Amino acid sequence: MQQPDPKEIMILNRIVVFSVIVFFIIIAAIYLLFISGKTGQYSDFEDYIFGTYVRIRISSKINPSTISKAIFAEMKRLEKKFDPYVESSIIYKLNHSEDWVEVDDETLSVIDLALKIARDTEGAFDPALGRLIQLWGFSKFTEREATGTFTVPSASEIAEAASKSGYQKIAIDYVNKKIKTNGAWIDLGGILKGYALKRAYQIAKEFDKSCHGFVETGGQIMILGPKYNKTNWVIGVRDPRGQPGENITIVYLSEGSVATSGDYERFFIVDNVRYHHILDPRTGYPANKAISATVISNDPVIADAFSTAAFVLGEDRWLFTRTVFPKYGAEVLLVTPKKRLLRTDNFKIYEMSDR
Ligand code: AMP
Ligand code: MG
Repeated sequence: MQQPDPKEIMILNRIVVFSVIVFFIIIAAIYLLFISGKTGQYSDFEDYIFGTYVRIRISSKINPSTISKAIFAEMKRLEKKFDPYVESSIIYKLNHSEDWVEVDDETLSVIDLALKIARDTEGAFDPALGRLIQLWGFSKFTEREATGTFTVPSASEIAEAASKSGYQKIAIDYVNKKIKTNGAWIDLGGILKGYALKRAYQIAKEFDKSCHGFVETGGQIMILGPKYNKTNWVIGVRDPRGQPGENITIVYLSEGSVATSGDYERFFIVDNVRYHHILDPRTGYPANKAISATVISNDPVIADAFSTAAFVLGEDRWLFTRTVFPKYGAEVLLVTPKKRLLRTDNFKIYEMSDR
């Protein structure tokens, strides 16, 4: 019998090893193709609305540009409709009418929700501070900042505007779909971005239920779906006394919304005192018992309004915030004026990366 040639065996072995390697490379390539096909590439879009940049990062089987355009158009519609200082808006009409004003369903439900949140937060969130916001100059912030024409109103001016403000003055007639402001001015600045993000989510999901990514407006993010459809988004919470990009903590979220209200967003300084845009309805002055408040909630409207409220309640009324806010689905991180971090019990969970 003939003995096998050792050289031939070696060559055969090499061919087998080579084939196995090629086989695995092909399998890996197919796997990678499959994965990338499933997650898709993200597309980014940006527009300037609500006095801030709105960013959309989205992956969808529908044209992402079509979805983004629809979202931006909706946000611009809301900006126009609810701007209290533009004569054509429904809010201007309500604020400048002494009588009942007939409103559409959307206006009624947004104002109704804002009033409910005012009651739930014992008035810390107050959607009827328009007169005070205008007096302080925050209704024309961009222009004032450009011209440097900020002044601190006098104590009597503040007392006068405060006496004509407050959510208790707003009345709703649900039967006839009418609202009466009784001299107070509605300003939905503390809830409107959250409502716009809620609409953004609805629009994106109407186009494509399985789209994923996020929409970001100034200090708030609404998640459309997990990163690559499988992992958490890593979201930095800004250090209120740091530069943009410097974080005080990081949260990991695959759904819902996170909003931050801070005294660094819109402010001016006179005689070394910082005056910012979040007012304490009890005093008529900027709230000064916190420097930032962050709320995580599944509902972006809750995240927005409750972050403003948590800021106003501040360190002094923290026990109320930490006891009551989670009942409304709002988990809070408060940064006190001395930069102490206060958290509701479940907030910590979002700071863990390996959930
Ligand atoms: P945010 O940045 O969400 O905290 O909202 C701040 C905006 O809400 C301000 O620019 C005002 O238009 C409005 N605002 C100020 N103070 C209050 C308050 N106490 N409650 C509700 N809205 C407020
Ligand atoms: Mg807010």
